[in-house]
Amino acid sequence: MKSYKSLSLLPYLFFLCSISFAQPSLTKHVVLIGIDGLSSEGLQYSNTPILNKLISQGVISLKTRGAMPSVSAPNWASILSGAGPEQHGVTSNNWSLSNHGIEPTAKDEDGYFPSIFTLIRKQMPNAITAMFYDWGWLGTFVNKKYINKEQLVQGNVMITSIALNYLKKEKPLYTFIYYGYPDEVGHSKGFGTPAYFQAVADIDTEIGKIIDGIKDMGLAQSTTILITSDHGGIGFGHGGESMIELEVPWIICGPGIKKNTILETPNDLTNTSPTIARLLGLKIPAEWIGKSVNEVLGTKAAASKSTQYTAKPWSSLAEGSFPGPQQIELSTTATNSEIFYTLDGSTPGTASKKYSYPFTISNNCTLKAVSISGSNSSQVITRTYTFLQGVKSATLSNQPSQKYPGLEVSGLFDGLIGSSNYTNKQWMGFEGDDFEVTVDRGEVKPLNTLGIYVLQMPVSWIFLPAAVEYYASDEGQSYKLLTTFYPAETDDIRLDGPVMLARNFENTSTRYIRIKATNIGTCPVTHPGEGKKAWLFVSEVEIE
Ligand SMILES: [Zn+2]
Repeated sequence: MKSYKSLSLLPYLFFLCSISFAQPSLTKHVVLIGIDGLSSEGLQYSNTPILNKLISQGVISLKTRGAMPSVSAPNWASILSGAGPEQHGVTSNNWSLSNHGIEPTAKDEDGYFPSIFTLIRKQMPNAITAMFYDWGWLGTFVNKKYINKEQLVQGNVMITSIALNYLKKEKPLYTFIYYGYPDEVGHSKGFGTPAYFQAVADIDTEIGKIIDGIKDMGLAQSTTILITSDHGGIGFGHGGESMIELEVPWIICGPGIKKNTILETPNDLTNTSPTIARLLGLKIPAEWIGKSVNEVLGTKAAASKSTQYTAKPWSSLAEGSFPGPQQIELSTTATNSEIFYTLDGSTPGTASKKYSYPFTISNNCTLKAVSISGSNSSQVITRTYTFLQGVKSATLSNQPSQKYPGLEVSGLFDGLIGSSNYTNKQWMGFEGDDFEVTVDRGEVKPLNTLGIYVLQMPVSWIFLPAAVEYYASDEGQSYKLLTTFYPAETDDIRLDGPVMLARNFENTSTRYIRIKATNIGTCPVTHPGEGKKAWLFVSEVEIE
């Protein structure tokens, strides 16, 4: 029975060998450094002299895509296995070998999807591999029996020191060193905050120690360093669909790798392990869908100097709408660089205004800014600023639902209207509640038109208001009803999508305006949500 089984494998092995030849190895050691929660933007806004030096000695991609959802486990699984969630089956941080939804497309004898560790052990049985990390889940995804040394360590400094000791002692072929710290700080203090940038800078220091250690061992010329992340973040979290959550840096340097080059071709985290396999001269298995990024291979410097990495500028003023003039300060972590900017939406370059001091804006504008160092340009940042026209202040009587908070009350006057997608942040949602806003225009002024921009989408339990009332007041105490109307009866309104509910007034002047839109209360009879609270969505108030 036994001999029958091994015999039956022979034609299969022969077939494998005949289609896939390993290529010669280009490096003797690979160190993959994982930084959890580092967006491409986070890299550019943080002080990272060590990473900047590595980039100048290698290749960087600022547009490497993570897998969806933009959370840790699916992405680290993709990084370590050369395949996406659809193949390895890790769709959330709750994944475990015994409890998961999707079956992997391939399994080893213990049920694990083949990782880079498995690949190395099977093709280079004597090679030494290691993994040092401070997030326990990583140890559940890889089959530990294929790793010579794996250790869960707490604390950035400890991770570095334990990893360095092992590198010195064993000189592994492949080492994965993982730091979870920037993600932790992002969750507790906010992504894109000074604390988060400092956390990234702290990891930069740790990476500096690893690089120095490798130099001291005399292995600098024979070691490839690859640095990447699983996702970025916004606010206090990630998992959504914004590019700041999905785009991460991917940096590689070492023997056989181009120098001082930006990788412009699309890249994906699933390419990480196939690229490492290529560098080590290993065959890439069929169940890996990522590919080796051969564009990074080459010994020459970048063909054109204009492809060198320069960090993009930072604007001190976040996008939004404002009641009065605002000051903007621009800065960049790029050394020996200058910032150029435009306010009319045109692409900035050296012919544009050069930034030297903070400046003030008081009209709607689009800021575009770029860092330029010699002949190298950074990515361009774009920020849209709007000013509330003719509105001194505004207050809401009822706050919107926390699920759909919109953009403060000022967002109602920013001239930006929500699309048919009600999750768009331009929309405020009121669950069972009415919408009522009171506006102070600062002085008595003529009034021609009043309108509110609402959403009609019964399939999502979002309905037109039952009634809209427009009021006026000169002193802000007693309000006079200008008009009431019932949208469902009086307007010719299309079935689904945003709707402007406006009325014209003649010979009217007023300082204060109040607009009340009455929620229909509960979903109507025959609707699937019959009797449950109905939603009212408002995006914009128009006063002319
Ligand atoms: Zn993560």
